[in-house]
Amino acid sequence: NEQSYRWQRVLLKVSGEALAGDQMQNIDPKVTMAIAREVATVTRLGIEVAIVVGGGNIFRGSSWAGCSGLDRSSADYIGMLATVMNAIFLQATMESIGIPTRVQTAFRMSEVAEPYIRRRAIRHLEKGRVVIFAAGTGNPFFTTDTAAALRCAEINAQVVLKATNVDGVYDDDPKHNPNARLLEDLTYHEVTSKDLSVMDMTAITLCQENNIPVVVFNLSKPGNIAKAIKGERVGTLIGG
Ligand code: UDP
Repeated sequence: NEQSYRWQRVLLKVSGEALAGDQMQNIDPKVTMAIAREVATVTRLGIEVAIVVGGGNIFRGSSWAGCSGLDRSSADYIGMLATVMNAIFLQATMESIGIPTRVQTAFRMSEVAEPYIRRRAIRHLEKGRVVIFAAGTGNPFFTTDTAAALRCAEINAQVVLKATNVDGVYDDDPKHNPNARLLEDLTYHEVTSKDLSVMDMTAITLCQENNIPVVVFNLSKPGNIAKAIKGERVGTLIGG
């Protein structure tokens, strides 16, 4: 059973929107369970999985800032707290099917989760635990995509796997243009110069500067998360 996979350690980014599935609620438990099951299959193969969760299903700072005197930093703190809720939900789901999981938060909430400690996170991964990074980078004005790029670089993960609700990156918006084409390979430069909406600029340039490839794929297709983690071809690969 010595098959080797493309990646040894991955950073899976799960957006809040993806967690919502097609539910009217904030979180669809079918989605968290699907993530848990697929992550379980790959951790059994020995691949180390760290997860960064978003919070957009509950609160997005940028869309609330300015509303009745709410300043951007306060709004962003609320957004970061939203990611902690998602992280705890996901952790509970994973542990319910026997996957040892730790949540680490970018700012202290030590009754609820561990604080982010890089070496400790790496140690958990080496022991086969899944580590969920919550509260983004801990700083307002950033996004959880940037947190994904940052944590990926810090823990020496080999790839950012960005799970979304679309099949990958298109040359046009597939929701409005039925002829939009899925782009299977892109360079960082193509993403930034064509302003393709993949990740925000801070996140993509952080990946570029550290030679971290990014795979954008659809998490709602059964089997896709496991495929992406095992390094099989799914969605769009950004690199070079
Ligand atoms: N956020 C932040 N700093 C970070 C990460 C997130 O301030 O490093 C806040 C920001 O308000 C953001 C919210 O948390 O809108 C939720 O994160 P994000 O929008 O990245 O979630 P996603 O789009 O992945 O669901």
